[in-house]
Amino acid sequence: MNQSEAWPFAIETIKQANHILILTGAGISASSGIPTFRDRGGLWNEFTPARFATWPGLLISLVLTPKKVVQFLIGVLEPIAQAKPNAAHNAIHKLEDVKKVTIVTQNIDRLHQRAGSTNVVELHGTLFEVIDIQSGQVSTLSAGELQNIVQGLHKLASQNYVLPKLLHTIQPLFSISLKGIRIPNVILFGQPLNTALYEAACIAASECDCMFVVGTSGTVFPAANLKHIAKQAGARVFEINPTHIIELNSTQTSTTIHLTGLAEQILPELVEKATQNKR
Ligand code: NAD
Repeated sequence: MNQSEAWPFAIETIKQANHILILTGAGISASSGIPTFRDRGGLWNEFTPARFATWPGLLISLVLTPKKVVQFLIGVLEPIAQAKPNAAHNAIHKLEDVKKVTIVTQNIDRLHQRAGSTNVVELHGTLFEVIDIQSGQVSTLSAGELQNIVQGLHKLASQNYVLPKLLHTIQPLFSISLKGIRIPNVILFGQPLNTALYEAACIAASECDCMFVVGTSGTVFPAANLKHIAKQAGARVFEINPTHIIELNSTQTSTTIHLTGLAEQILPELVEKATQNKR
């Protein structure tokens, strides 16, 4: 289906839909100033996931190359601490006025909630929460607290023997003491997802009649399975991405319909056209 056919088809599908599932990835937050990790210049080009996005790798890096961990943490925390929702997050929130919408996000930036969305499944957790791994108790962290950590990290960037100061600086986010171990409530590579959250995402995928996959390379599983669940249940699946994502496992189900371009441009126009006269 070419773009001139895909647009009216997507608008009509939204109008008819009873339940819309929107799966979002790093690309939806790119125009809020949070770089994606895999695109050119992304974090994974400089920091290998094995050493910086797994707990064993991170702990080894902390001991062997703490200054590199300082650079990595600045790279992850600073854009997220400063970001604001963009036109794509706001358009999804607008759609909730007229349709039942479930958002399943792989992002850890809380921007959907900051745009006003409430029905959000954070499949990979969020940087705005800290979890005590013994008790499972979760506490929240504000953008201001994240910004304070980033300021402290910038001071360390030019210093030597940073490990003790680094541990002190990131204490609100990561601490090991007699009281317990507190870590950011995010899923790193190799960690299982929260079962209840993944189940909620699978139920939404099997119940929706229309799904939009926005700004994700589809390389992180099991999130990437959700569109296959939706297709098998009969939903129409659309992809919003400037890059055409190659489909794996698409032989047995209907193909994905591509809306090629940036989420912050496509979503506001799509929602506006699909909800005219509805609000
Ligand atoms: P990814 O980096 O693998 O892929 C990003 C995708 O977004 C690419 O396909 C790219 O073509 C597309 N894209 C870039 N700019 C876009 C735009 N303006 N509009 C629409 N699409 C755009 O991201 P992923 O698939 O989400 O996987 C990365 C993992 O890293 C996720 O699990 C996520 O938890 C984490 N991550 C989160 C954030 C965040 O919270 N904002 C940022 C980076 C990475």
